[in-house]
Order: sequence, then C-alpha cells, then structure tokens
Amino acid sequence: MRLTKFTDLALRAVMRLAVSEQAGPLTTRQVAEAMEVPYAHMAKAVTRLQHLGVLEARRGRGGGLGLTGPGRRASVGWLVRELEGGGEVVACDGDPPCPLNGACRLRHALRDAQEAFYAALDPLTVNDLVASPTGPVLVGLVGRRPA
Ligand code: SF4
Repeated sequence: MRLTKFTDLALRAVMRLAVSEQAGPLTTRQVAEAMEVPYAHMAKAVTRLQHLGVLEARRGRGGGLGLTGPGRRASVGWLVRELEGGGEVVACDGDPPCPLNGACRLRHALRDAQEAFYAALDPLTVNDLVASPTGPVLVGLVGRRPA
C-alpha cells in the first residue's frame, strides 16, 4: 500500500511541529522549507490538520504553528485514515467500473489488507514518532526565517 503525497507531507509537518517546543515555533513556510516540500502543498496540509484538530495557529509574540494536546496524543492510524479519506487501494468503481466489482474476492481481501495496514499504525501516537533517533534530527531541520 502506498500513501498519497498529501498524507506523507502532512505527517512530516506533524512530526516537525511535535518537536517545535525544543526548537521554537515555526510558520507554515518554515515547516515547508524544513521538510523540503512546496509551500502551497504544505499550506493545504496545514489547513487540513487544523480542521482535524491536530494543529493550531497561535497568534502574537512567540506565535506560530503548534500541535494541540489531542494532536500530540493522536493515533497515527486514525490520522492516516483521515488524511487518506477512506478510499480503496484499487479503483473498482472507476470509469468504467470493473465488471467484477459486485462479487470480487480480491476486493474483499484488499480491503482486509488495507485495514490491517491501518491497524498496525493504531497503537502509535504522534509523540511516539518523534522519539530518538527521529526527534533530534527533526530539531535540526530549522526552516529559514522569512525575509
Ligand atoms: S478485479 Fe476486483 S479488486 Fe480488481 S478492480 Fe476488479 S473488483 Fe476491484
């Protein structure tokens, strides 16, 4: 199973922001630069993560993006399911739909495999993702300050 690019960069943002208390708050542009993804793509991911309640934008001095408490404790399996949007791994109902789509054992097996994939991520929290050795590396990925 392959995650969408959108899910991957949203997870990168979450991981980078999970260590922001050690390295200082960051703007969306700085997160994009630190994780080496285009700003416009990162802005879309940040908006989606805010809607999910995982991130919040803090205003004022020392402000910037930060994880919410529930975001920090969120299950990675839940987060990936939300970001992926519940689609199947094969487009059985595409245009034109597959002629087997009403009675396909393979489709059922793929759904089970997809659920097993998510289930393997369920016990992990966002906090778990930034334990050593990942966390210290993330702290060093500081985006450039905007001009
Ligand atoms: S063969 Fe089965 S799994 Fe593949 S597209 Fe058709 S319905 Fe879906």
